[in-house]
This record gives sequence, structure tokens and C-alpha cells, in this order.
Amino acid sequence: MTAADRHVIVVGGGNAAMCAALAARESGAQVTVLERAPMAERGGNTAFTAGAMRFAYHGVDDIRQLVPDLTDEQVDKTDFGSYDEAAFLEDMARVTEYRCDPELVELLVTRSFPTLMWMRSKGVQFVPIYGRQAFQFDGRFTFWGGLTLEAVGGGPGLVETEWAAAEREGIQIRCGARAFALLHDDAGVKGVKVHEAGRSVDLPADAVVLAAGGFQANPEWRTRYLGPGWDLAKVRGTRFNTGDGIRMALDIGASSYGNWSGCHAVGWDRNAPEFGDLKVGDHYQKHSYPWGIMVNAHGQRFVDEGADFRNYTYAKYGRRILEQPHQLTWQVFDAKVAHLLRDEYRIRQVTKVKADTLEDLAKKMDDVDDAGFLAEIEHYNEAVRTDIPFNPNVKDGRRTVGLPVDKTNWANTVDQPPFEAYAVTAGITFTFGGLRIDNRARVLDTGGAIIPGLHACGELVGGLFYFNYPGGTGLTSGSVFGKIAGEAAAGT
Ligand SMILES: Cc1cc2nc3c(=O)[nH]c(=O)nc-3n(C[C@H](O)[C@H](O)[C@H](O)COP(=O)(O)OP(=O)(O)OC[C@H]3O[C@@H](n4cnc5c(N)ncnc54)[C@H](O)[C@@H]3O)c2cc1C
Repeated sequence: MTAADRHVIVVGGGNAAMCAALAARESGAQVTVLERAPMAERGGNTAFTAGAMRFAYHGVDDIRQLVPDLTDEQVDKTDFGSYDEAAFLEDMARVTEYRCDPELVELLVTRSFPTLMWMRSKGVQFVPIYGRQAFQFDGRFTFWGGLTLEAVGGGPGLVETEWAAAEREGIQIRCGARAFALLHDDAGVKGVKVHEAGRSVDLPADAVVLAAGGFQANPEWRTRYLGPGWDLAKVRGTRFNTGDGIRMALDIGASSYGNWSGCHAVGWDRNAPEFGDLKVGDHYQKHSYPWGIMVNAHGQRFVDEGADFRNYTYAKYGRRILEQPHQLTWQVFDAKVAHLLRDEYRIRQVTKVKADTLEDLAKKMDDVDDAGFLAEIEHYNEAVRTDIPFNPNVKDGRRTVGLPVDKTNWANTVDQPPFEAYAVTAGITFTFGGLRIDNRARVLDTGGAIIPGLHACGELVGGLFYFNYPGGTGLTSGSVFGKIAGEAAAGT
């Protein structure tokens, strides 16, 4: 059978699915995409992202390859630095406490730049993330934390471009089509069972790529695997990632893999809805805590807000917030740092209080012990090493000394009015546990053998992330393993 005779079904409509579909089509296969969501909610978690993508690069020349219309003026005023393969590998290893699968991570890292170039060939355009990943300091922008480019139009733009490319290239896309089981015999996977327009039908195929996301939108599975309390988390993205892809594969003997009790979770507006809202996108998140402090209902700090750049702490601090009384945290800032707050702090749908004195602020902060909060701030302010200069572009070492929980970078006293506080709870992004794949994104069974005809990519792949996550890696993982899965499913 040649690739042209092969029919590949891709389950999912987010970035991983569309990269798999485009790669399978480029390899010659006939491709059908099954998207569970209706058209208006297509694109999974991908549609909720900022489109920020982490990749290895060696300086401005590589950036120029991905952003050919970068102007000389932009280059002059910007220090893009470099983020080579070794740095990306080291970040993955460090934040996952050396648990991540070395073979999968090697692929993720070494294929990251070429895969973004391939996405460009499909029409995806990139721009520097000036607003969120670089601060102007002494007249120059300096990028920090290995995260430099985002897709034009953010997540919605990425989905739009990928879906348009798929349609252009003759890929059939069916919205409102929920795959719920794999057709399977001793020779392997032969297609999927789909529920569509009120009917269940069998769709035969030569290969199936599962790209249906994690199980974060399933409160029962969250509680079962992540633990008590996770039913109370808000879901940051799509309501459609309920673990179907993982379950379908486990049902035919696939191996589970990775950090099943772990997930990516962040500080998210306390009054955000149960699931993400595409009109608000990722703006319910509140990621500027490194410039202020976070206190719980007792008024006490409980994490080192400045332990590292935001990219390396935000994904694990959601769990710490969930563990606090009422799953509540207030982020507090004073006027010295208000200009550093990200755009997401200036939306209409924000739970914010403001006051000219700390006493008045405390009164306005719901569910917080006023006296405990005021005492905490006093101790905190006394402990700040104000002799060390503040610089948001580097880990500046401006810290507190002698507190039960010290802040080790970017410690500023909280003493200049007006004061602002933002109420956040835990928002879950995606789950870390999933399926075991090999280096061609083929799903393995519990005995370690390949399940013929079954591939997986994106959030439902296990083994990449444990405990924590370097910001911008989810999309890159979906693209890298999506492309590998699509090519393998097409038989090339
Ligand atoms: C608010 C937010 C902001 C984020 N920001 C970033 C960022 O800037 N950079 C980054 O790298 N990552 C970011 N992430 C993480 C990123 O969204 C994911 O890692 C990535 O989009 C996952 O891609 P995916 O294709 O695996 O899953 P998804 O994009 O979620 O796609 C899964 C698809 O499967 C479909 N589906 C589910 N079940 C079925 C079924 N039974 N049958 C058919 N289809 C099904 C869903 O409808 C969906 O289309 C963010 C996530 C959120 C929620």
C-alpha cells in the first residue's frame, strides 16, 4: 500500500491534531480530522493559549529565520539572547526533577526549531513576545526565560491558520464528531467508533492518531488521579478534554505513562467560570506574582514568589494555591511595581481591590485575616535587602532574609500607595499523565510492544512533564510529536 492509499484518522482539533493531520497529508495520506467540539468551540486548549512556543535557537539569526520581517530597529533595541539545545534540555530536566523521559525530551528539543520552521511553511507566522517576556530596561528589551516567540493572533490565530491550511490541503474535518472507541483486532487498530449528529458509526482507517488532550475537564478523573480537592479547580481551557483519547487507548491495552497525579495549574481569577471562556482567553491568569507577594486566608505568604522566572514557577504554584484554605490567594502589589503587571491584570472580568492604606486594603480583601495580613507585611518589609538593586530582567538576588518563607529575587517592600490586590484560585491547564509512545509516536501496550496503527501526540502523551513545566512547551510538544505521528501514521 502506498501512502496515497492510506486513510489516517486524527482524533482532536487542537494544535497537535492539526500538525499530525498536515504532516500525514504532506506524506500523501487521505486524512480525516474528528473534532468533538462544535465549530464555534473548535481548537481545544490551543485556542485558549497566547500561542507562545519554546524552542532552541542560537541568537538573532535563527529568530530572523522564523520572523523574516523583523526590522533592524527591533533588532537594535532587543537582546534576544540565545537558548540552545543544552539549555532547553537542562530546563526540562531541572523543572521535572530529572524524571522526564530522555528520549522523548531529546526529540522535543532537537526537533523544536525545525518543526517551527515547518509550521511556517504551512502559513503560521511568529512575532516576538515583547509584552510578556521582555522588559525595557536602560532603553533595551531583554528576553528572559527561554520563551521568545508567539504565533500571530495567539491561540485563536494559530487554530485559524492551521485549520485553513488543512482545508486548503484537502483534509476532511468533521466538527461535533466525538470518537469514543477504537476499532481493533489482533492485527491492530482499524479505525474509530464515532458519535456524530445523534448516531454512532464505525469509521474505518489504516491508522489513527489520538490527539484528544488530557483529562483536566473531567472532575471525577481529576479527583481520582490528582487527588482530593482537584474537583474544586477551575478549568482554564476547553470543556471537551475529558480523557476520551487516553481511555480509548487504555481500553485496548495501551500502557499508561508519566505523572498521573501531576498537572499544570496556575493562579486563576477566583470568580472565573467553571471552564475557559474563549472571549477572555488566558486573561483570567495572574502571572505577575514575582513582582509582589501572595498571601492566603491567614494573611500569610506560603511560597517564594521570586524563586525563578515566572516561566519556571507558574505551572506548579497552582497546586500550592489549591492547598490553601478556601483554595484562595490574594496577590498584593504596591505602586512601585504596578507598571510591571501584565495585560491580564487590566481586564474587566477581574477580582481586584484597591486602597490607599494597607489597613483599608485588608478590609477589602474577602476571607483574609486583617491582623495576620498586616503583621505579615510588616515582617516582610523589614526583611527586604533594599541595598541590592531591583532588575526584573535578571534573577537579581534582591531578597528577603530571615523569614519562614523567604522571597529570593525581586523582593520590593510593599509600602507605596495605592495598593492593589487580586483574588486568585487554582486553574488547571492540562494533566501530565497519559499514554506511552516511542520515538515515532507509536502507542505502546503494557508489554512494551507497538500497537499497530495507533499513534498519539499532544497533551495525552505521558512522560514529558512531571511536577512542573517550562512555559511554552505544550504547543511545541504538540507540534513536534504531531508531525512525527502524522508522518508515521502515513507510513513514511
Ligand atoms: C489558558 C491557557 C493558556 C495556555 N497558554 C499556552 C501557551 O502560551 N503556550 C503553550 O505552549 N501552551 C499553552 N497552554 C497549554 C496548551 O494549550 C496545550 O499544551 C496545547 O494546546 C495542547 O494541544 P493539544 O492539541 O494536545 O490539545 P488541545 O488543543 O486541547 O486539543 C484537543 C482536541 O481534542 C478534542 N477532543 C477531545 N475529546 C475528543 C473526542 N472524544 N473526539 C474528538 N475530539 C476530541 C478537543 O475538542 C480538542 O479539539 C495553555 C493552555 C491554556 C488552557
